[in-house]
Amino acid sequence: MKVFLNGHIVPIEDASVSVLDHGFLYGDGIFETMRAYDNKIFKLDEHLKRLEKSAGFIELKIPHTNKELKKYIYNTIEANNLRDATVRLTITRGPGPTGLNIKECNTPTVFIYAQPFTPYPAKYYTEGASVIVSTVRRNLKEALNPEIKSLNFLNNILAKNEATKKKAVEAIMLNSEGFITECSVSNIFFVNKENILCTPSVGCGILDGITRQFVIEIARENGFDVFEGEFTTKDIYGANEVFLTNTVMEILPVGSIDSVTYQRGHLTEKLSRLYMEKVQKFFAP
Ligand code: PMP
Repeated sequence: MKVFLNGHIVPIEDASVSVLDHGFLYGDGIFETMRAYDNKIFKLDEHLKRLEKSAGFIELKIPHTNKELKKYIYNTIEANNLRDATVRLTITRGPGPTGLNIKECNTPTVFIYAQPFTPYPAKYYTEGASVIVSTVRRNLKEALNPEIKSLNFLNNILAKNEATKKKAVEAIMLNSEGFITECSVSNIFFVNKENILCTPSVGCGILDGITRQFVIEIARENGFDVFEGEFTTKDIYGANEVFLTNTVMEILPVGSIDSVTYQRGHLTEKLSRLYMEKVQKFFAP
């Protein structure tokens, strides 16, 4: 396997980063996970836009233009002879003296990793994924805004670990006010009793998923009512259908949340179909 590190494509064995890198020492950095379908990255501009937004939040200067980043991403896919791939672009604050002064780190580390696309298990899609409501609360917006796709992932890891221990696939996190935010690596949607597609608003303290934005767009385009707002566990336990979204899973139906079970829903199926149609259209030669 070959990776891109600071301007060069190198075998992964030769890709090493300083132990003084602040990404390593403090989780100081940002990333994007993207998906290549048939050698084309889906929503690449949107991912790079979000990367820029994350960089802005933490005052990290990305040392490349988007054009350069695109070239490096495709070079990495090509170097590994991949067509369907998961690609991760990581930019850290880079090495510097220990301590928290960001001004002393002047060379961000840029790392791109592409691996063959591995889907979530098919049975999650047929039976629906099992999900829990985690005891771990989502980071407070005013402390570490979840809109930043940062390397500081312990909040998510703790929630995911709780799900794993309870044999669930994903963990829903609430915010400090008790409203639903998102899961450890995905956004959440549900269809309420009035057949409205609901999802927590960005203001609840979530990462504004690229897939989330796309699903909202497709739903509205097809005449479905979409409501972004504040919701409680009561709303979601009482929902007709629930699904999760992210770049890798796309639309993943939820079969249960804690002890509440859900039928595979009509709207979830329709949106999944529309999503795939859009993807195929996008990549049609
Ligand atoms: N929320 C969190 C916390 C995530 O890590 C992810 C995955 N990037 C998402 C939501 C979904 O985002 P996207 O649709 O852009 O993959």
